[in-house]
Amino acid sequence: MPVNDRYNRQILLKNIQEKGQKKLNESKVTIIGCGALGTTIANNLVRAGIGNIQVVDRDIIELNNLQRQNLFDEDDIGFSKAEVIAEKLRKINSEVRIKPIADDVYYKNIENIIKNMDVILDGTDNMLIRFLINDACVKHKIPWIYGGAIESYGISMNIIPNKTPCLRCIIQDIPEAGSLPTCDTVGVLNTIPAIIGSIQSTEALKILLKKDINEGLLSYDVWSHSFNNINIKKRNDCECCGKHNFEFLNAKKRETMISLCGKGAIQITPVNEVKISFEDLGKKLQKLGKVDYHKLVLRLKIPGYELNIFKNGRTIIIGTNDKKIAKSLYSKYIGL
Ligand SMILES: [Zn+2]
Repeated sequence: MPVNDRYNRQILLKNIQEKGQKKLNESKVTIIGCGALGTTIANNLVRAGIGNIQVVDRDIIELNNLQRQNLFDEDDIGFSKAEVIAEKLRKINSEVRIKPIADDVYYKNIENIIKNMDVILDGTDNMLIRFLINDACVKHKIPWIYGGAIESYGISMNIIPNKTPCLRCIIQDIPEAGSLPTCDTVGVLNTIPAIIGSIQSTEALKILLKKDINEGLLSYDVWSHSFNNINIKKRNDCECCGKHNFEFLNAKKRETMISLCGKGAIQITPVNEVKISFEDLGKKLQKLGKVDYHKLVLRLKIPGYELNIFKNGRTIIIGTNDKKIAKSLYSKYIGL
């Protein structure tokens, strides 16, 4: 197989050609969130030959993800999304360098995650992370592509620092916790994240190739087939892009315990990072329940609960929404 056979149909496009393909092969992108949007984006971009792709997700794969997260299958349930997606992407295109990060994105690591990237793609379902991405990308002048999908509609917007409005130009502050609908509470049709993720992927190619991009907030409802592109104005008094007051990035406190809304799960992150040896911890926990572990996550199953423990001590406790129970399970089994 001639090497350029892989991208032949793409090189034929007048907007790409050999020169554009070469540029794509040299590009670096980060996809934050490997759910329905993230898997669509990752699949598109790895096949398009984006040379370096970093995938970030803190979660493990659950049965209810399979309805829409199109790179996962039944054998993947219980494993780290970032790790599984990286394995699949490498099989799709071994010429691309893939780096998985199975971690929470927060104010201390976001700048490292986006460093030296050409474009950041939002595949999260979390406003706090989006505000963090917005702060970090505006500060470091890296383009990012906002995306969201729920029920049968979705939105997307390109944010090019110093050129287009930023996320805080449209949403001035983070909505109150629990005030927004989530896929866990209202559901999502599997076609809409595939469409929005594909729009984000296309805009990423255009940004990488320095072509004209869509400006404005795009929204689409696949059920009613209604499409809008709303013109957004940059606000001079915007805390982020106007005043360069990066409130989310400069947060003093790190969230240590969060409910994974609607999932019956709580995530606990220790204040100080630790380095867990899965071998040692696995031996200890084998006496208490069913243990299995892979590179990035150790899973402990005990009656009624499942603990997914990551190397830095971050743990997702499935089976409860009660923070006290989660805390006691954490200290009982991990004891850090
Ligand atoms: Zn702004």
